[in-house]
Amino acid sequence: MVRLLPLVILLACSSSGAVRDDDPPAAEAAPAQPAAEGDWAHMTEAQWRARLTPEEFDVLREEGTERAFTGEFHDHHAEGVYVCGGCGQPLYRSSTKFDSGTGWPSYYEAIEGAVETEVDHGLGMTRTEVHCSRCGGHLGHIFPDGPEPTGMRHCINSVSLDFVPASEAAALEANAAD
Ligand SMILES: [Zn+2]
Repeated sequence: MVRLLPLVILLACSSSGAVRDDDPPAAEAAPAQPAAEGDWAHMTEAQWRARLTPEEFDVLREEGTERAFTGEFHDHHAEGVYVCGGCGQPLYRSSTKFDSGTGWPSYYEAIEGAVETEVDHGLGMTRTEVHCSRCGGHLGHIFPDGPEPTGMRHCINSVSLDFVPASEAAALEANAAD
């Protein structure tokens, strides 16, 4: 009698090296605790998304850039104070605004202590990035081709700013000084 060996068919499993696609993005691995009201420096992405429009979020939190000549303030000449679109901190006085012809609102200096800078190597260029000193929101860049008295040009996205007319700005600055 012929002994029949069990026929074992090994099916090669082509998916044995399947790619693991269930790894969560690093940002979700450790959810940040929501910051307390007014703790601007520690706001979570979710808190900013709830506070800002998508356009504001893209520029202020993701360092996007609005298209030239499309913003609200490049051709805006009223007297007052431009404040951070993220946290409302006063950033630039209208008296320091000038027409750069670039299509972005431009200022030769910021209100003292209102902004901070860091070197930005993005887009293959070395530029000076400028952001709000209170919430860290990205504003734009600073170039050394501005007018007197500073020779600097703060090239700022309109969407990063809100405008407070002079009549209301006096009270705003008085409160900030208290
Ligand atoms: Zn801010």
